[in-house]
Amino acid sequence: MLVYAPLRLEAACLDGTVRRHARVIRTGMGPGRARVAAARGLAVDAAGVAVVGVCAAAVPGLQAGDVVLGSELRRAGADPVRVPGSRMLAAALRRRGLRAHVGTIESVADLAGPTERRYLAGRGATAVDMESAWLAAGADGRPLVVLRTVVEHSTRELYDPRTALAGARSLAALRRAAPVLDEWRRALRRRRIMLAAPRSFCAGVDRAIEIVELALEQRGAPVYVRKQIVHNEHVVADLERRGAIFVDELDEIPAGATTVFSAHGVSPAVRAEAAERGLDVIDATCPLVSKVHAEARRFAAAGNTVFLIGHSGHEEIEGTYGEAPDATVLVENVADAARVAAPDPERVTFLTQTTLAVDETEEIIDTLRGRFPALRGPSSDDICYATTNRQKAVREVARESDVVLVVGSRTSSNSLRLVEVAEREGARAYLVDDETDVDLAWIADAGTIGVSAGASAPEELVHSLVASLAALGGADVEQTTTATESLRFKLPQEVRG
Ligand code: SF4
Repeated sequence: MLVYAPLRLEAACLDGTVRRHARVIRTGMGPGRARVAAARGLAVDAAGVAVVGVCAAAVPGLQAGDVVLGSELRRAGADPVRVPGSRMLAAALRRRGLRAHVGTIESVADLAGPTERRYLAGRGATAVDMESAWLAAGADGRPLVVLRTVVEHSTRELYDPRTALAGARSLAALRRAAPVLDEWRRALRRRRIMLAAPRSFCAGVDRAIEIVELALEQRGAPVYVRKQIVHNEHVVADLERRGAIFVDELDEIPAGATTVFSAHGVSPAVRAEAAERGLDVIDATCPLVSKVHAEARRFAAAGNTVFLIGHSGHEEIEGTYGEAPDATVLVENVADAARVAAPDPERVTFLTQTTLAVDETEEIIDTLRGRFPALRGPSSDDICYATTNRQKAVREVARESDVVLVVGSRTSSNSLRLVEVAEREGARAYLVDDETDVDLAWIADAGTIGVSAGASAPEELVHSLVASLAALGGADVEQTTTATESLRFKLPQEVRG
Protein backbone atom coordinates (compact mmCIF):
# COMPACT_ATOMS: atom_id res chain seq x y z
CA MET A 1 0.00 0.00 0.00
CA LEU A 2 1.15 3.55 -0.72
CA VAL A 3 0.25 6.19 1.86
CA TYR A 4 0.43 9.90 1.20
CA ALA A 5 0.57 12.06 4.35
CA PRO A 6 1.14 15.82 3.96
CA LEU A 7 2.85 16.52 7.30
CA ARG A 8 5.31 14.67 9.56
CA LEU A 9 2.76 14.85 12.43
CA GLU A 10 0.17 13.14 10.24
CA ALA A 11 2.57 10.45 9.02
CA ALA A 12 3.53 9.77 12.65
CA CYS A 13 -0.07 8.70 13.37
CA LEU A 14 0.34 5.55 11.26
CA ASP A 15 0.97 2.58 13.54
CA GLY A 16 3.67 -0.05 13.10
CA THR A 17 1.46 -2.52 11.22
CA VAL A 18 0.50 0.05 8.62
CA ARG A 19 4.10 1.18 8.23
CA ARG A 20 5.43 -2.39 7.86
CA HIS A 21 3.23 -2.97 4.81
CA ALA A 22 3.18 0.52 3.33
CA ARG A 23 5.42 2.92 1.55
CA VAL A 24 4.72 6.30 3.18
CA ILE A 25 5.37 9.44 1.16
CA ARG A 26 5.34 12.68 3.12
CA THR A 27 4.05 15.13 0.59
CA GLY A 28 4.27 18.53 2.26
CA MET A 29 1.39 21.03 2.17
CA GLY A 30 -0.41 22.51 -0.79
CA PRO A 31 -1.09 21.72 -4.43
CA GLY A 32 2.43 22.20 -5.80
CA ARG A 33 3.97 19.65 -3.44
CA ALA A 34 0.97 17.34 -3.80
CA ARG A 35 1.42 17.28 -7.58
CA VAL A 36 5.09 16.32 -7.23
CA ALA A 37 4.28 13.63 -4.63
CA ALA A 38 1.52 12.21 -6.83
CA ALA A 39 4.02 11.84 -9.68
CA ARG A 40 6.49 10.08 -7.34
CA GLY A 41 3.77 7.68 -6.22
CA LEU A 42 3.20 6.48 -9.77
CA ALA A 43 6.51 4.65 -9.59
CA VAL A 44 5.63 2.83 -6.34
CA ASP A 45 4.46 -0.75 -6.73
CA ALA A 46 1.37 -0.83 -4.46
CA ALA A 47 -2.03 -2.56 -4.54
CA GLY A 48 -3.81 0.51 -3.17
CA VAL A 49 -3.29 4.15 -2.34
CA ALA A 50 -4.35 5.97 0.84
CA VAL A 51 -4.31 9.68 1.53
CA VAL A 52 -4.34 10.50 5.26
CA GLY A 53 -4.22 13.77 7.13
CA VAL A 54 -6.30 16.48 8.70
CA CYS A 55 -8.96 18.70 7.14
CA ALA A 56 -11.24 21.59 7.97
CA ALA A 57 -14.98 21.08 8.23
CA ALA A 58 -17.12 22.79 5.64
CA VAL A 59 -20.53 21.80 6.98
CA PRO A 60 -21.81 22.50 10.49
CA GLY A 61 -22.06 19.51 12.81
CA LEU A 62 -18.59 18.11 12.21
CA GLN A 63 -16.40 18.23 15.31
CA ALA A 64 -12.65 18.10 15.91
CA GLY A 65 -11.65 14.43 15.77
CA ASP A 66 -14.45 13.37 13.38
CA VAL A 67 -13.26 11.36 10.39
CA VAL A 68 -14.23 12.30 6.85
CA LEU A 69 -13.91 9.68 4.11
CA GLY A 70 -13.87 11.37 0.73
CA SER A 71 -16.41 9.82 -1.65
CA GLU A 72 -15.67 12.54 -4.18
CA LEU A 73 -12.62 14.77 -4.54
CA ARG A 74 -12.96 18.17 -6.15
CA ARG A 75 -10.71 21.03 -7.08
CA ALA A 76 -11.16 24.06 -9.28
CA GLY A 77 -10.58 23.47 -12.96
CA ALA A 78 -10.70 19.67 -12.88
CA ASP A 79 -13.34 16.96 -13.09
CA PRO A 80 -14.35 15.47 -9.74
CA VAL A 81 -12.75 12.14 -8.81
CA ARG A 82 -15.15 9.53 -7.42
CA VAL A 83 -13.91 7.26 -4.64
CA PRO A 84 -16.18 4.22 -4.40
CA GLY A 85 -16.17 2.02 -1.29
CA SER A 86 -15.91 4.87 1.21
CA ARG A 87 -19.12 3.88 3.02
CA MET A 88 -17.70 0.44 3.81
CA LEU A 89 -14.60 1.96 5.36
CA ALA A 90 -16.59 4.59 7.28
CA ALA A 91 -18.65 1.80 8.82
CA ALA A 92 -15.46 -0.02 9.87
CA LEU A 93 -14.35 3.19 11.62
CA ARG A 94 -17.70 3.57 13.34
CA ARG A 95 -17.38 0.01 14.64
CA ARG A 96 -14.17 1.24 16.31
CA GLY A 97 -16.11 4.00 18.03
CA LEU A 98 -15.04 6.85 15.74
CA ARG A 99 -17.48 9.38 14.33
CA ALA A 100 -17.05 8.85 10.60
CA HIS A 101 -18.71 10.73 7.75
CA VAL A 102 -18.68 10.17 4.01
CA GLY A 103 -18.73 13.15 1.68
CA THR A 104 -17.08 15.41 -0.83
CA ILE A 105 -13.64 16.79 0.00
CA GLU A 106 -12.76 20.00 -1.82
CA SER A 107 -9.05 20.69 -2.20
CA VAL A 108 -8.08 24.37 -2.36
CA ALA A 109 -4.83 26.18 -3.09
CA ASP A 110 -4.75 28.34 0.07
CA LEU A 111 -5.93 27.95 3.63
CA ALA A 112 -9.72 28.46 3.60
CA GLY A 113 -11.37 30.50 6.34
CA PRO A 114 -14.96 30.02 7.56
CA THR A 115 -16.49 32.22 4.85
CA GLU A 116 -14.88 30.31 2.00
CA ARG A 117 -15.68 26.99 3.67
CA ARG A 118 -19.33 28.04 3.98
CA TYR A 119 -19.32 28.87 0.28
CA LEU A 120 -17.78 25.47 -0.56
CA ALA A 121 -20.35 23.73 1.67
CA GLY A 122 -23.03 25.42 -0.44
CA ARG A 123 -21.48 23.67 -3.45
CA GLY A 124 -21.66 20.30 -1.71
CA ALA A 125 -18.33 20.04 0.13
CA THR A 126 -18.23 18.27 3.47
CA ALA A 127 -14.62 19.14 4.27
CA VAL A 128 -11.73 21.11 2.82
CA ASP A 129 -8.04 20.31 2.49
CA MET A 130 -5.12 21.40 0.32
CA GLU A 131 -3.85 18.20 -1.26
CA SER A 132 -6.24 15.24 -1.73
CA ALA A 133 -7.62 16.09 -5.20
CA TRP A 134 -4.08 16.46 -6.56
CA LEU A 135 -2.77 13.37 -4.75
CA ALA A 136 -5.59 11.29 -6.27
CA ALA A 137 -3.65 11.36 -9.54
CA GLY A 138 -1.06 9.15 -7.81
CA ALA A 139 -3.59 6.32 -7.56
CA ASP A 140 -3.67 6.01 -11.35
CA GLY A 141 -6.56 3.52 -11.39
CA ARG A 142 -5.52 1.68 -8.23
CA PRO A 143 -7.97 1.43 -5.29
CA LEU A 144 -7.99 4.74 -3.43
CA VAL A 145 -9.07 5.84 0.03
CA VAL A 146 -8.97 9.39 1.38
CA LEU A 147 -9.19 9.56 5.16
CA ARG A 148 -9.05 12.93 6.85
CA THR A 149 -9.77 13.92 10.44
CA VAL A 150 -11.37 17.25 11.28
CA VAL A 151 -9.12 19.81 12.91
CA GLU A 152 -11.38 22.87 12.73
CA HIS A 153 -15.12 23.04 12.74
CA SER A 154 -16.90 25.03 10.09
CA THR A 155 -17.08 28.42 11.84
CA ARG A 156 -13.67 28.62 13.50
CA GLU A 157 -10.98 31.03 12.31
CA LEU A 158 -7.52 29.62 11.75
CA TYR A 159 -5.91 31.83 14.40
CA ASP A 160 -8.37 30.74 17.07
CA PRO A 161 -6.28 29.52 20.07
CA ARG A 162 -8.66 26.58 20.54
CA THR A 163 -7.38 25.12 17.27
CA ALA A 164 -4.32 23.70 19.09
CA LEU A 165 -6.52 21.52 21.29
CA ALA A 166 -8.64 20.55 18.28
CA GLY A 167 -5.42 19.62 16.46
CA ALA A 168 -4.50 17.20 19.23
CA ARG A 169 -7.96 15.64 19.03
CA SER A 170 -7.71 15.37 15.29
CA LEU A 171 -4.34 13.59 15.39
CA ALA A 172 -5.55 11.25 18.15
CA ALA A 173 -8.47 10.27 15.88
CA LEU A 174 -6.06 9.72 13.00
CA ARG A 175 -4.04 7.34 15.19
CA ARG A 176 -7.21 5.42 16.10
CA ALA A 177 -8.33 5.29 12.48
CA ALA A 178 -5.01 4.10 11.04
CA PRO A 179 -5.45 0.35 11.79
CA VAL A 180 -8.52 0.31 9.53
CA LEU A 181 -6.20 1.18 6.65
CA ASP A 182 -4.39 -2.08 7.29
CA GLU A 183 -7.70 -4.00 7.25
CA TRP A 184 -8.41 -2.29 3.92
CA ARG A 185 -4.96 -3.22 2.58
CA ARG A 186 -5.49 -6.89 3.47
CA ALA A 187 -8.83 -6.91 1.63
CA LEU A 188 -7.34 -5.52 -1.60
CA ARG A 189 -7.41 -7.96 -4.52
CA ARG A 190 -9.20 -8.57 -7.77
CA ARG A 191 -12.11 -10.95 -7.17
CA ARG A 192 -14.71 -13.03 -8.89
CA ILE A 193 -18.21 -12.00 -7.82
CA MET A 194 -21.00 -14.49 -8.47
CA LEU A 195 -24.49 -13.03 -8.44
CA ALA A 196 -27.31 -15.45 -7.66
CA ALA A 197 -30.43 -14.99 -9.79
CA PRO A 198 -33.26 -14.74 -8.94
CA ARG A 199 -32.62 -12.47 -5.96
CA SER A 200 -34.22 -9.36 -4.41
CA PHE A 201 -37.89 -8.36 -4.69
CA CYS A 202 -40.57 -10.98 -5.30
CA ALA A 203 -44.03 -10.27 -6.70
CA GLY A 204 -45.58 -10.06 -3.20
CA VAL A 205 -43.06 -7.50 -1.97
CA ASP A 206 -43.31 -5.45 -5.17
CA ARG A 207 -47.07 -5.34 -4.79
CA ALA A 208 -46.99 -4.43 -1.08
CA ILE A 209 -44.60 -1.52 -1.63
CA GLU A 210 -46.61 -0.30 -4.62
CA ILE A 211 -49.78 -0.36 -2.50
CA VAL A 212 -48.24 1.97 0.12
CA GLU A 213 -46.83 4.25 -2.60
CA LEU A 214 -50.19 4.47 -4.35
CA ALA A 215 -52.02 5.05 -1.07
CA LEU A 216 -49.66 7.96 -0.30
CA GLU A 217 -50.11 9.35 -3.81
CA GLN A 218 -53.90 8.99 -3.93
CA ARG A 219 -54.85 9.79 -0.34
CA GLY A 220 -51.89 11.84 0.89
CA ALA A 221 -49.78 11.37 4.02
CA PRO A 222 -50.00 10.00 6.55
CA VAL A 223 -50.76 6.44 5.61
CA TYR A 224 -50.54 4.02 8.53
CA VAL A 225 -48.99 0.59 8.05
CA ARG A 226 -49.46 -2.17 10.59
CA LYS A 227 -45.99 -3.72 11.19
CA GLN A 228 -43.18 -3.41 8.64
CA ILE A 229 -44.77 -3.52 5.18
CA VAL A 230 -41.97 -5.94 4.22
CA HIS A 231 -39.07 -6.97 6.42
CA ASN A 232 -36.43 -4.54 5.21
CA GLU A 233 -35.02 -1.53 7.07
CA HIS A 234 -34.22 0.42 3.88
CA VAL A 235 -37.70 -0.02 2.40
CA VAL A 236 -39.35 1.01 5.67
CA ALA A 237 -37.07 4.06 6.11
CA ASP A 238 -37.75 5.17 2.53
CA LEU A 239 -41.53 4.92 2.92
CA GLU A 240 -41.33 6.69 6.29
CA ARG A 241 -39.57 9.60 4.59
CA ARG A 242 -42.48 9.76 2.14
CA GLY A 243 -45.16 9.88 4.83
CA ALA A 244 -45.92 6.32 5.92
CA ILE A 245 -46.23 5.71 9.66
CA PHE A 246 -45.43 2.20 10.84
CA VAL A 247 -47.17 0.98 13.97
CA ASP A 248 -47.15 -2.27 15.90
CA GLU A 249 -50.80 -2.34 16.84
CA LEU A 250 -54.03 -0.86 15.51
CA ASP A 251 -54.75 1.14 18.69
CA GLU A 252 -51.90 3.48 17.69
CA ILE A 253 -53.88 4.55 14.59
CA PRO A 254 -56.49 7.34 14.72
CA ALA A 255 -60.04 6.14 13.99
CA GLY A 256 -60.91 6.24 10.30
CA ALA A 257 -57.31 6.62 9.08
CA THR A 258 -55.99 4.84 5.97
CA THR A 259 -54.32 1.64 7.17
CA VAL A 260 -52.31 -0.89 5.18
CA PHE A 261 -51.90 -4.48 6.36
CA SER A 262 -48.38 -5.77 5.61
CA ALA A 263 -47.41 -8.46 3.09
CA HIS A 264 -47.20 -11.03 5.90
CA GLY A 265 -50.96 -11.04 6.52
CA VAL A 266 -53.09 -10.61 9.63
CA SER A 267 -55.40 -12.81 11.66
CA PRO A 268 -59.21 -12.45 11.54
CA ALA A 269 -59.03 -10.87 15.03
CA VAL A 270 -56.94 -7.98 13.60
CA ARG A 271 -59.40 -7.54 10.72
CA ALA A 272 -62.30 -7.42 13.18
CA GLU A 273 -60.52 -4.83 15.34
CA ALA A 274 -59.83 -2.67 12.28
CA ALA A 275 -63.51 -2.81 11.32
CA GLU A 276 -64.55 -1.92 14.86
CA ARG A 277 -62.26 1.14 14.82
CA GLY A 278 -63.60 2.23 11.43
CA LEU A 279 -60.16 2.09 9.81
CA ASP A 280 -59.97 2.52 6.06
CA VAL A 281 -58.09 -0.71 5.34
CA ILE A 282 -56.05 -1.63 2.27
CA ASP A 283 -54.81 -5.20 2.44
CA ALA A 284 -51.27 -5.76 1.12
CA THR A 285 -51.16 -9.41 2.25
CA CYS A 286 -49.30 -11.41 -0.40
CA PRO A 287 -51.83 -13.55 -2.31
CA LEU A 288 -49.63 -16.59 -1.62
CA VAL A 289 -50.01 -15.98 2.13
CA SER A 290 -53.75 -15.48 1.70
CA LYS A 291 -53.85 -18.89 -0.01
CA VAL A 292 -52.36 -20.50 3.13
CA HIS A 293 -54.97 -18.72 5.28
CA ALA A 294 -57.71 -20.14 3.08
CA GLU A 295 -56.23 -23.64 3.43
CA ALA A 296 -56.11 -23.26 7.22
CA ARG A 297 -59.81 -22.35 7.28
CA ARG A 298 -60.74 -25.18 4.93
CA PHE A 299 -58.77 -27.88 6.80
CA ALA A 300 -60.01 -26.73 10.22
CA ALA A 301 -63.64 -26.53 9.02
CA ALA A 302 -63.34 -30.18 7.89
CA GLY A 303 -62.44 -31.18 11.47
CA ASN A 304 -58.68 -31.58 10.98
CA THR A 305 -55.83 -30.75 13.31
CA VAL A 306 -53.56 -28.38 11.37
CA PHE A 307 -49.83 -28.75 12.01
CA LEU A 308 -48.52 -25.32 11.09
CA ILE A 309 -44.81 -25.51 10.26
CA GLY A 310 -43.05 -22.21 10.85
CA HIS A 311 -41.33 -19.88 13.28
CA SER A 312 -43.07 -18.83 16.46
CA GLY A 313 -43.50 -15.05 16.69
CA HIS A 314 -43.22 -14.46 12.93
CA GLU A 315 -46.05 -12.21 11.75
CA GLU A 316 -47.07 -14.58 8.98
CA ILE A 317 -47.41 -17.45 11.44
CA GLU A 318 -49.41 -15.30 13.87
CA GLY A 319 -51.81 -14.43 11.04
CA THR A 320 -52.25 -18.00 9.78
CA TYR A 321 -52.53 -19.43 13.30
CA GLY A 322 -55.26 -16.88 14.03
CA GLU A 323 -57.47 -18.38 11.28
CA ALA A 324 -58.16 -21.49 13.38
CA PRO A 325 -56.37 -21.23 16.73
CA ASP A 326 -58.27 -24.13 18.34
CA ALA A 327 -57.40 -26.53 15.56
CA THR A 328 -53.80 -25.42 14.90
CA VAL A 329 -50.57 -26.74 16.44
CA LEU A 330 -47.31 -24.93 15.74
CA VAL A 331 -44.39 -27.11 14.63
CA GLU A 332 -41.05 -25.29 14.57
CA ASN A 333 -38.60 -28.12 13.98
CA VAL A 334 -38.07 -31.87 13.71
CA ALA A 335 -38.11 -32.23 17.52
CA ASP A 336 -41.58 -30.63 17.63
CA ALA A 337 -42.72 -32.91 14.79
CA ALA A 338 -41.58 -35.90 16.81
CA ARG A 339 -43.74 -35.03 19.83
CA VAL A 340 -46.88 -33.20 18.66
CA ALA A 341 -50.22 -34.93 19.18
CA ALA A 342 -53.66 -34.76 17.56
CA PRO A 343 -57.06 -35.76 19.01
CA ASP A 344 -57.79 -37.82 15.87
CA PRO A 345 -54.59 -39.08 14.13
CA GLU A 346 -56.70 -39.92 11.05
CA ARG A 347 -57.64 -36.26 10.56
CA VAL A 348 -54.36 -34.39 10.43
CA THR A 349 -53.05 -31.89 7.90
CA PHE A 350 -50.03 -29.64 7.60
CA LEU A 351 -49.38 -26.14 6.31
CA THR A 352 -46.12 -24.21 6.12
CA GLN A 353 -44.85 -20.66 6.39
CA THR A 354 -44.04 -19.39 2.89
CA THR A 355 -40.41 -18.47 3.60
CA LEU A 356 -38.92 -21.63 5.14
CA ALA A 357 -35.85 -23.55 4.01
CA VAL A 358 -37.05 -26.14 1.50
CA ASP A 359 -34.73 -28.96 2.68
CA GLU A 360 -35.41 -28.48 6.42
CA THR A 361 -39.15 -28.35 5.84
CA GLU A 362 -39.08 -31.64 3.91
CA GLU A 363 -37.45 -33.26 6.93
CA ILE A 364 -40.16 -31.94 9.25
CA ILE A 365 -42.94 -33.10 6.92
CA ASP A 366 -41.30 -36.56 6.63
CA THR A 367 -41.17 -36.82 10.43
CA LEU A 368 -44.85 -35.91 10.72
CA ARG A 369 -45.77 -38.35 7.96
CA GLY A 370 -43.86 -41.11 9.71
CA ARG A 371 -45.97 -40.57 12.83
CA PHE A 372 -49.28 -39.76 11.09
CA PRO A 373 -49.61 -41.86 7.92
CA ALA A 374 -52.96 -40.18 7.20
CA LEU A 375 -51.31 -36.75 7.09
CA ARG A 376 -52.59 -34.59 4.28
CA GLY A 377 -51.38 -31.23 3.09
CA PRO A 378 -51.63 -28.75 0.27
CA SER A 379 -50.79 -30.14 -3.17
CA SER A 380 -47.19 -29.05 -2.60
CA ASP A 381 -45.85 -27.38 0.53
CA ASP A 382 -46.68 -23.68 0.89
CA ILE A 383 -43.11 -22.46 0.54
CA CYS A 384 -43.53 -19.89 -2.19
CA TYR A 385 -41.92 -19.80 -5.62
CA ALA A 386 -39.72 -16.81 -4.66
CA THR A 387 -38.29 -18.52 -1.57
CA THR A 388 -37.67 -21.75 -3.49
CA ASN A 389 -36.02 -19.98 -6.45
CA ARG A 390 -33.73 -17.82 -4.29
CA GLN A 391 -32.60 -20.81 -2.26
CA LYS A 392 -31.81 -22.82 -5.37
CA ALA A 393 -29.80 -19.95 -6.87
CA VAL A 394 -27.82 -19.23 -3.72
CA ARG A 395 -27.04 -22.94 -3.36
CA GLU A 396 -25.49 -22.99 -6.84
CA VAL A 397 -23.45 -19.89 -6.15
CA ALA A 398 -22.35 -20.98 -2.67
CA ARG A 399 -20.79 -24.16 -4.09
CA GLU A 400 -18.23 -22.04 -5.92
CA SER A 401 -17.79 -19.22 -3.39
CA ASP A 402 -15.45 -18.73 -0.44
CA VAL A 403 -17.86 -16.25 1.12
CA VAL A 404 -21.52 -15.52 0.42
CA LEU A 405 -23.05 -12.16 1.27
CA VAL A 406 -26.84 -12.08 1.48
CA VAL A 407 -28.42 -8.64 1.41
CA GLY A 408 -31.38 -8.51 3.77
CA SER A 409 -32.50 -7.41 7.21
CA ARG A 410 -32.29 -9.55 10.35
CA THR A 411 -36.11 -9.57 10.55
CA SER A 412 -36.36 -11.15 7.09
CA SER A 413 -37.03 -14.87 7.40
CA ASN A 414 -36.32 -15.69 3.76
CA SER A 415 -32.99 -13.78 3.88
CA LEU A 416 -31.90 -15.67 6.99
CA ARG A 417 -32.75 -18.95 5.25
CA LEU A 418 -30.52 -17.96 2.31
CA VAL A 419 -27.60 -17.57 4.71
CA GLU A 420 -28.27 -21.01 6.18
CA VAL A 421 -28.61 -22.63 2.77
CA ALA A 422 -25.27 -21.11 1.67
CA GLU A 423 -23.60 -22.32 4.88
CA ARG A 424 -24.89 -25.85 4.30
CA GLU A 425 -23.04 -25.76 0.96
CA GLY A 426 -19.79 -25.06 2.81
CA ALA A 427 -19.41 -21.32 2.24
CA ARG A 428 -18.94 -18.75 4.98
CA ALA A 429 -22.13 -16.74 4.71
CA TYR A 430 -23.20 -13.43 6.21
CA LEU A 431 -26.40 -11.42 6.25
CA VAL A 432 -25.82 -7.72 5.55
CA ASP A 433 -28.33 -4.89 5.44
CA ASP A 434 -26.05 -3.15 2.95
CA GLU A 435 -22.33 -2.82 2.22
CA THR A 436 -21.70 -0.98 5.50
CA ASP A 437 -22.29 -4.24 7.39
CA VAL A 438 -19.44 -5.99 5.59
CA ASP A 439 -16.45 -6.58 7.85
CA LEU A 440 -13.32 -6.36 5.68
CA ALA A 441 -11.82 -9.27 7.63
CA TRP A 442 -14.59 -11.59 6.33
CA ILE A 443 -13.49 -11.11 2.75
CA ALA A 444 -9.74 -10.55 3.09
CA ASP A 445 -8.82 -14.03 1.80
CA ALA A 446 -11.89 -14.58 -0.39
CA GLY A 447 -11.14 -14.93 -4.09
CA THR A 448 -14.77 -15.62 -5.00
CA ILE A 449 -17.68 -13.89 -3.30
CA GLY A 450 -21.26 -15.00 -3.89
CA VAL A 451 -23.96 -12.35 -3.59
CA SER A 452 -27.69 -12.80 -3.17
CA ALA A 453 -30.54 -10.80 -1.66
CA GLY A 454 -33.71 -11.76 0.17
CA ALA A 455 -37.11 -11.21 -1.40
CA SER A 456 -37.59 -8.00 0.59
CA ALA A 457 -34.19 -6.41 -0.21
CA PRO A 458 -34.01 -3.76 -2.97
CA GLU A 459 -31.77 -4.56 -5.94
CA GLU A 460 -30.02 -1.14 -5.63
CA LEU A 461 -28.44 -2.41 -2.42
CA VAL A 462 -26.91 -5.31 -4.36
CA HIS A 463 -25.48 -2.91 -6.95
CA SER A 464 -24.00 -0.75 -4.23
CA LEU A 465 -22.48 -3.78 -2.48
CA VAL A 466 -20.93 -5.03 -5.71
CA ALA A 467 -19.51 -1.56 -6.45
CA SER A 468 -17.92 -1.45 -2.99
CA LEU A 469 -16.40 -4.92 -3.45
CA ALA A 470 -15.11 -3.97 -6.88
CA ALA A 471 -13.48 -0.86 -5.37
CA LEU A 472 -11.16 -3.20 -3.50
CA GLY A 473 -9.16 -4.02 -6.60
CA GLY A 474 -11.61 -4.84 -9.35
CA ALA A 475 -14.12 -7.61 -9.95
CA ASP A 476 -15.11 -10.13 -12.60
CA VAL A 477 -18.87 -10.24 -12.13
CA GLU A 478 -20.85 -13.28 -13.30
CA GLN A 479 -24.47 -14.17 -12.81
CA THR A 480 -25.79 -17.68 -12.16
CA THR A 481 -29.45 -17.85 -13.17
CA THR A 482 -31.43 -20.88 -12.05
CA ALA A 483 -34.92 -19.56 -12.86
CA THR A 484 -36.61 -16.57 -14.47
CA GLU A 485 -39.55 -14.92 -12.77
CA SER A 486 -42.34 -12.97 -14.43
CA LEU A 487 -45.17 -13.32 -11.90
CA ARG A 488 -47.11 -10.14 -11.06
CA PHE A 489 -50.03 -9.91 -8.65
CA LYS A 490 -53.09 -7.75 -9.22
CA LEU A 491 -53.38 -4.68 -7.01
CA PRO A 492 -56.35 -4.48 -4.61
CA GLN A 493 -59.43 -2.58 -5.77
CA GLU A 494 -58.82 0.26 -3.26
CA VAL A 495 -55.71 1.54 -5.08
CA ARG A 496 -56.45 0.52 -8.66
CA GLY A 497 -56.65 3.58 -10.90
S1 SF4 B 1 -41.69 -14.22 -0.25
FE1 SF4 B 1 -43.32 -15.38 -1.26
S2 SF4 B 1 -45.05 -15.31 0.15
FE2 SF4 B 1 -43.59 -13.72 0.80
S3 SF4 B 1 -44.29 -11.89 -0.23
FE3 SF4 B 1 -42.78 -12.83 -1.59
S4 SF4 B 1 -44.01 -14.12 -2.99
FE4 SF4 B 1 -45.30 -13.61 -1.25
